[in-house]
Amino acid sequence: MRKWWAWEFGESIRKNTDHARAQRGREYAQNGAVKKIEINPGKISAEVLGTTMYKVTIYGSTIPIDEKEKIINIIHQKGYLSSIISSEIPKELKKDLEKENIHLIPQKLGFNCTCPDYKRPCKHIYAVQKVLNDMMSYDPFILFKFLGIEKEHIILGNQENELLKEYHQPKISVKDFQKKYTFSYREFSSVEPWNQFKENSETIRKIYHVIMNNAEKKLIDI
Ligand SMILES: [Zn+2]
Repeated sequence: MRKWWAWEFGESIRKNTDHARAQRGREYAQNGAVKKIEINPGKISAEVLGTTMYKVTIYGSTIPIDEKEKIINIIHQKGYLSSIISSEIPKELKKDLEKENIHLIPQKLGFNCTCPDYKRPCKHIYAVQKVLNDMMSYDPFILFKFLGIEKEHIILGNQENELLKEYHQPKISVKDFQKKYTFSYREFSSVEPWNQFKENSETIRKIYHVIMNNAEKKLIDI
C-alpha cells in the first residue's frame, strides 16, 4: 500500500531513473535483492545483491532543532498524533508546515552506489527506493527518523522529551538530578496523555509505558 509521503520521498530518484534501469530495479526489489536497509538521521544505508553485494547510500538534510520543535508542536496542537501512530500522516501537516516554510519531504536527496554502472540512479538505488516506499508507507516514523526526529520525541511532545533527555544525559550529578526532578518525574508519571485519544489509546499507552519503565528502572538502579 503506497502512501503519499513515501511516494513523494522517492520522487527525485524515480524521475531521474531511465526506463530500463527502473524496470530492473523493480524486479530487484520484488525478488528480494535488497538485503539490508538501515535508517539513520540524514542517511539511509542499504545492501543490494547484484553480480556481487553493492552498497547503496541515500543522503538528505536533517531538520534544524527549532524546526523540529515546531513540527512536534503542530502535531500535538492539531491532534495529528493518533493518525501518525496508526500509519497515516495527515496531508494537512505538510500544508501547515509549508506555511512555516518547513519541508516535511526532503527537497533534495543525494544517492550513491558502489556498482560499476556509469549512470545514476542505477537499478540498485531504484530498488532501495522501492523497498523504502513500502517501509515508509507502513511506518511513517521512518521518514521522521531520516529527518532527525525520534519517535519518542514525537509521542511525548517537546516538554516531556526535554525532561527525559536531561535524565538520560545528565549534565548535573545524579543526586542533584533526583533532587531537581523527583517531583516533576512523579507528576509526569501520573499524567495520562493517552486519555485524549480514543482509537489508539492502547498503542500509545504501551509505548509510553516502555519509556517510563526504562526511566523508572534507571532511577531504581542508582
Ligand atoms: Zn548500483
